[in-house]
Amino acid sequence: MYQGSCLCGNVQIQITGKISDIIHCHCSLCRKSSGTAYATNGFVNTEDFHIEQGSEHLGQFEIKPGKIRHFCKTCASPIFSSNATDPSRIRLRLGILDSDISERPISHNFVTSKANWDDLHVTLPHYEEHEPSRNKQKAL
Ligand SMILES: [Zn+2]
Ligand SMILES: [Zn+2]
Repeated sequence: MYQGSCLCGNVQIQITGKISDIIHCHCSLCRKSSGTAYATNGFVNTEDFHIEQGSEHLGQFEIKPGKIRHFCKTCASPIFSSNATDPSRIRLRLGILDSDISERPISHNFVTSKANWDDLHVTLPHYEEHEPSRNKQKAL
């Protein structure tokens, strides 16, 4: 069982099944809705996906007919998306998870749409926290 929550904590979710087909999506829609280089998304069966708290805080944006992105109206965290043509499952935004998961991403997708400053992390150094040079600047 996995737990998740939005940034402000108003929306709490629980997943009682597996997460499948986890991918890093670099498409322009995922970049814009996440504000980052890519979104990490996976399928969860609708019957395994539970809004434990805060369903009244969820807002909806219909990006295409029947394709709805659900987000927290207070903090704007993306929570999941749903598709009217496939109501048996939802597409989870994995960044909201508070639990460690056993499943792993299988691929980077839509890499031809990636931001031109995104090098797919093949060459950059990795840090446990902020990059060391940030300590010399004012915190933003
Ligand atoms: Zn929130
Ligand atoms: Zn995408």
